This record gives sequence, structure tokens and C-alpha cells, in this order.
Amino acid sequence: MNAAEPDTLSLLAQKIFDDLRAMSPDGAGVSRPAYSSIETRALDYLSDVARAHGLAVDHDAAGNGWFCLPEHRDADRFMVVGSHIDSVPEGGNFDGLAGVVAGLLVLIRAQGRGLRIPVKCLALRGEESAWFGSCYLGSKALTGQMTATELAAPHKADGRPLADHMADLGIDTAAIAAGQSLIAPDRIAGYVELHIEQGPLLVERDIPAAVVTGIRGNIRYRAITCTGEGGHSGAVPRVYRRDPVLAMADLLTRLDDSWLHILQTGGDLVLTSGVVGTDPARHAITRIADSISFSLDIRSQSTEVLAHMRDYLHEEMADIARVRSVSFDTGPEIPAAPALMDKTMVRDLMEAMRSTGIEPFSMASGAGHDAAVFAQAGVPAAMIFVRNRNGSHNPREAMEIADFMVGTRIISAYLEALQP
Ligand SMILES: [Zn+2]
Repeated sequence: MNAAEPDTLSLLAQKIFDDLRAMSPDGAGVSRPAYSSIETRALDYLSDVARAHGLAVDHDAAGNGWFCLPEHRDADRFMVVGSHIDSVPEGGNFDGLAGVVAGLLVLIRAQGRGLRIPVKCLALRGEESAWFGSCYLGSKALTGQMTATELAAPHKADGRPLADHMADLGIDTAAIAAGQSLIAPDRIAGYVELHIEQGPLLVERDIPAAVVTGIRGNIRYRAITCTGEGGHSGAVPRVYRRDPVLAMADLLTRLDDSWLHILQTGGDLVLTSGVVGTDPARHAITRIADSISFSLDIRSQSTEVLAHMRDYLHEEMADIARVRSVSFDTGPEIPAAPALMDKTMVRDLMEAMRSTGIEPFSMASGAGHDAAVFAQAGVPAAMIFVRNRNGSHNPREAMEIADFMVGTRIISAYLEALQP
């Protein structure tokens, strides 16, 4: 390796991150909404960087960006290094973007040295669920996995459906609506995604990067409604009450007990009810609420655990509804299956990590990523996590460029070692 090269590349990485942060400010963080003009501007900027470094630039029919060495533009089969360019509102600059910049750097590093197998960098749109309520939109559209419900999902701010926002950007949604894959999945030999870690493990363990073994799936309910009967908080005796707030508390306590039991028996589970509320137009300190609605996000690496939790949820809701004379309505369930990373890719990435002088380390991913969508489409997929402070989906996320460069070197070493 040329001694000057890492410096040049890390300076370039720093400049790309700084420039894109400046292009999409929002409060203390950044906002790059899914399928918006801001997202397009970010993609255009990255395309300019790619062209300036002699790379070829293309777009697929879902509006995602593709970069590669010119000689690989028409390759039948290729490896993909990618991630997403959108962000949550007032989010951090590295979530998603780091994986795209890593792909660009891998290609720029390969300029002049060549790659034995073709590699393409993929800049995906619309991974975050913050804008249309469901996630992985760019990778689902690309691989024919987008549902009609997702295409019709309203934008959180303007209420217009995703299909309209896509059409605004010149994307023809007919093939996407028909569930057609916009690329033959067997053309992708493997998908590698570098991403910041969104939990505390690598900081706690003082490790710059890790190979991911699997991604938790989830079942999610945007708003479960529990309906009881409103009444005077002083005048209605307990026996006559149909209090939806206590019913919800009952349910969450039972779910929490089950969670602990699953962990104690070696299972994998996390469970969150992050949006909870009674109707502000009707609620009062002195009033038993008529109804309450709450979100529920249940995640596990195990399909069996998720299925068990779904059954358990419905059984307990039925029991509590009977005991407390209330009713539950879960509304639509938003499922995402767990995804195991490809064993051969995991092994080879661990070997690449060792070859760059770092003790190999692997871990599970608690958050979902586009890599799961590729795995679901039958594409071998793997991920590298990079150490990052303060979690993500907030402006305080903090990834050191030195750690990021460790992650990109692992991917470069992995790709250079692959045999055609
Ligand atoms: Zn992300």
C-alpha cells in the first residue's frame, strides 16, 4: 500500500462528510428525507465525486445511484458495497452515508490497481422509516419487494403517498408496483454494507470495527388502540371501571415479564413502546380515559421468537380485554423478517480483518439494515460495523474517521482477496 494513500483517502472521506453535512442541516443534525430533492442533491454530489475520480455513474429505475470502475460498467455479475443516503429528521451525518462513502473509497483505492472481480458502489434511497412509516424503500424497490401498502403510505409531513414522491423524481413506479425486481438478484455476487454501530458495544470493548453475523427482524404496530369507557375519576368505583390505561399497563407488564423469561432462557429479544397517548382533546387529570393508543416494536434474530411473541401478544390482549372489559385493536402489523449474514462472507471478512492487523470480532445487529433486504432476495450479504459514540438517529452520533478507515480497509482487503 502506498504510504501516502490512507491520508489522501481519509482527507477525502472527511471532506465528503463535511460537505454533505453542510448541504442538509437541520437543527443540530442533518435531515435528508427519503425520496426528496435534498436526497437527490446528496446523490448528485456523490456522483460528482465519483466522476472526478474517474468512476462511472449510473442510476437504476428506483432512483438509486451506482458507481464503479469504467471497465466494470457492463459486468454481468459483481459485488456491491453500499448503504443509504437518507437520514431521519435531525439525524446524524454518518448513519447510512458512511457505507456509501466506504464504497466510493474502495473503488477510488482500486483505481490503477484494478480489482479481480467487478465491484459496484450502491447509494440507496429511502432506508429510514421516519418519512413514510416503513423502511428499506430503495432496496425493496430495487429487488421487487415493495408492497402496494408501502407505495400508498403517506409522507409524515405532506400526507402524499410514496408513489407520488417517487414520481416527482421521475421514477416510473409501474414495475415497482408489480413487484418486479429491477435487477436480476443473481447478478449480485454479494452485498457488503459498512454502517456505524448504533449501540454501545464497540465503544465499551474499545474495538474500531466488527463483522456482523445477523440482523434482528421485527414486528411493529404503529398504533395499538385500547378502548374502554370514559368516566369521572372520583365517582366510578373500581368494579365498574373499563380503564384502557390500566389495560395497556397490564399488557406491557406481561410483555416485559415474557421478555425477561426469553432472555433468561437464552433467546434474543428487545421490545419497546415508544409512542403512548390518550386523546388530548378529551383527556384530563380527573377523567378515566376513553381510549389510549401506543406503538409496539418487537425485535429478535429468531423467527420463532417473533412468532411466539405475536401469539403471546394476541393471547394476553384477549385475556386483558375480558378481565378489564376493554377492547384492543392492533391496526396493521408491519413485519420484517430476521436476516442471517452469509457464512462464507462473514468468515472471509473476519480473515480480512485479521489481515489488516486487527483481532477479528463479530456481533449481531440490533437495528435493521438494507443488507437484510438483499439477504431476503437471496443475495449473500454481510456487514461491517464501525465504532460510534452516542447511538444514532440523533445529531450527537460520533464516528472517528480513523475507525471508518479501518472499516473500509477491511472491505478493500476482503474484495482484493476474492477469487473470480
Ligand atoms: Zn442506517
